[in-house]
Amino acid sequence: MEYEQMLEEAYENVKVTAECERFEILNVAGHHEGTRTVISNFVRVVQCIRRNPEHLMKFLTKELASQGEIKGDRLILSRKLASKDVNDKIRKYVERFVLCAKCKKPDTELSDEDGKLYLRCMACGGKIQIHRI
Ligand SMILES: [Zn+2]
Repeated sequence: MEYEQMLEEAYENVKVTAECERFEILNVAGHHEGTRTVISNFVRVVQCIRRNPEHLMKFLTKELASQGEIKGDRLILSRKLASKDVNDKIRKYVERFVLCAKCKKPDTELSDEDGKLYLRCMACGGKIQIHRI
């Protein structure tokens, strides 16, 4: 194992046990089981960005061309993926489905109105229509 990878894993382990009282994009704690990738802190990652686990899973499986399944706190992806790639996609998800496009704050919620999906911001009152996954 390379030194940088060791550092990264140590960092991830610290993050997993940390409290999540405010908005935060955690790095995934991932490992491979055969040809699959297991994200063991998936539900925690979702909690910290305050979104629905199924919604994030849908996004990740589409972006990563993988199948997914949530088991307990874990997400199991059907392909062997690098943690970095999963982290990059989670950041992309946050940009698109969590952060307000106007004020960039994360105090938002998704709302479904008349078949359209909106991102509503509690901080600035902004409301922007977004694409479905
Ligand atoms: Zn806003």
